[in-house]
Amino acid sequence: MAWPVIIKSRREWEVVPHLFDYAAVRERFTWEEARRELEGLPDDRGLNIAHEAVVRHALGPKSHHVALRWISKDGRVEDYSYDLLHRLSNRFANVLRALDVEKGDRVYVLAGRIPELYIAALGTLKQGAVFCPLFSAFGPEPIRARMSIGGATALVTTEPLYQRKVAGLRNSLPDLRHVLLVGPDRRRTDLPGTLDFHRLLESASESHAIAPTDPEDRALLHFTSGTTGRPKGAIHVHKAVVAHHITGKLALDLHRDDIFWCTADPGWVTGTSYGIIAPLANGVTSIVDEGDFDAERWYRLLQDHRVTVWYTAPTAIRMLMKAGLDLPRKFDLSRLRFCASVGEPLNPEAVLWGRQAFGHPFHDNWWQTETGGIMIANFAAMDVRPGSMGKPLPGIEAAIVRKTEAGRVEVVDRPDVQGELALRPGWPSMFRGYWNEEARYQKCFAGGWYLTGDLAKRDADGYFWFVGRSDDVIKTSGHLIGPFEVESVLMEHQAVAEAGVIGKPDPVAMEIVKAFVSLKDGYEASPSLQKELLGFARTRLGAVVAPKEIAFLPSLPKTRSGKIMRRLLKARELGLPEGDLSTLEGSS
Ligand code: ATP
Ligand code: MG
Repeated sequence: MAWPVIIKSRREWEVVPHLFDYAAVRERFTWEEARRELEGLPDDRGLNIAHEAVVRHALGPKSHHVALRWISKDGRVEDYSYDLLHRLSNRFANVLRALDVEKGDRVYVLAGRIPELYIAALGTLKQGAVFCPLFSAFGPEPIRARMSIGGATALVTTEPLYQRKVAGLRNSLPDLRHVLLVGPDRRRTDLPGTLDFHRLLESASESHAIAPTDPEDRALLHFTSGTTGRPKGAIHVHKAVVAHHITGKLALDLHRDDIFWCTADPGWVTGTSYGIIAPLANGVTSIVDEGDFDAERWYRLLQDHRVTVWYTAPTAIRMLMKAGLDLPRKFDLSRLRFCASVGEPLNPEAVLWGRQAFGHPFHDNWWQTETGGIMIANFAAMDVRPGSMGKPLPGIEAAIVRKTEAGRVEVVDRPDVQGELALRPGWPSMFRGYWNEEARYQKCFAGGWYLTGDLAKRDADGYFWFVGRSDDVIKTSGHLIGPFEVESVLMEHQAVAEAGVIGKPDPVAMEIVKAFVSLKDGYEASPSLQKELLGFARTRLGAVVAPKEIAFLPSLPKTRSGKIMRRLLKARELGLPEGDLSTLEGSS
């Protein structure tokens, strides 16, 4: 069967979304068939992510196609063809081999979004080692903790990051054998106790025989965002590429001549699964922007690099909304065909704003570090339901479940009933464990399901709706209230830029709903605005669900991956210990 893509001619391939009959494709889909879309290593030596992402394109007709377009902070552009990326990552794999970094060893990368990160990631996978990215803004303690959990063998970082954050930790990292440094301005460097990344790369051979890797061999170690507590190191295997490839195609609508921009940093799973692997496995051009968020810079980038498919996050979309509609109208964004969002619930307001700003709604999709790839999505081929996460991908069985009093897990068949979102294990990018935390891993499963820790509902048409994380759900006067619903209504008010909602203990109601909001530019916090917001929410939500208290904050506490940390709002409100803050934005 040709893939579920109805394409009639080469011309249409370029412009027609992957229009497919969702029900028919779900019916026919098998992961085995999805795997046959990939090449596998020659001579049946297994499956390797880097082979599918780079080698097979470098050795085929796509060899001179731009794989990565890197845009530096100051706007310089460097293009890396599939062929060049292949040769550079071969060199890096040879560097690792010469350093005795073996199959299964952990190679960490702590760097901003520079080309060396991508070369190191692919070279590590070619060598059969495990790639573990760390977010460059982490302070020394979060770096140390993650490197000791995974027992880092080698670290690739930059000289300034090394001096500020890692040099003082060397004694506490006994497994760390090699530190490879990229010098200031990506030049050479000569620091005692470290190796020079570029010098080693230049002297290594360009030819490398990829390590035979079994589909079940470990490939990636990714730490979760730490939104609900201490981050966990999720392990993914080479077979995950089957899911990265097919979800890139089906959920992100990638076509072979697309110019794709995933704004996530590879320090978070989205920036690896969809900032490195999925676009390359699909043979498209992937944009890597070294710079930080800036509304004008982003619009210019979309325009100048003729981005066709864009994958970003609610927090960025809310910041773009804050900057207003006049700004995007100054740019030619007509190339943009598909816009998607992940990471947090996307408020209906934001979905529709996409249509005003770009002519397309944002397509929300849902997944986790643990799932390795997109699980539920608003596909190009179906109507977007603003506020919904969409429908499960072909090959993914999702359900709403509940624990019975006897502790059994029961599937809730009726529509619109709230319960925990569960997935039937068995897809290729499913995590295979939390590194060194077997008990924590085992706790995620019950009754043949993987329990996601998120609460959701399914409507009669099969769309899933996010309610909140189980930890964040508010119990008030016998009702269960998901923070997302309340936050979305507050966001509809013209003054509100962001909203975070918690349950505050109350002797009568058990908990009351309390909201924290930050305001858009041009609005001032005042008792009258507070009153107006309370009234606005009550009219929309009814007295039970509406917040009883609203407080103003200049901005809400977020993880570095951009998620509102409701547990921190709550801890601060109650004067309790703040817990693990290693991923809090603005901390170090
Ligand atoms: P931790 O597990 O350490 O607390 P985290 O769950 O935030 O952190 P990630 O794996 O980065 O770490 O995030 C996955 C979570 O993000 C999901 O479980 C869900 O709560 C939220 N999420 C992701 N996408 C969406 C979405 N489209 N709608 C609603 N929530 C989403
Ligand atoms: Mg989580």
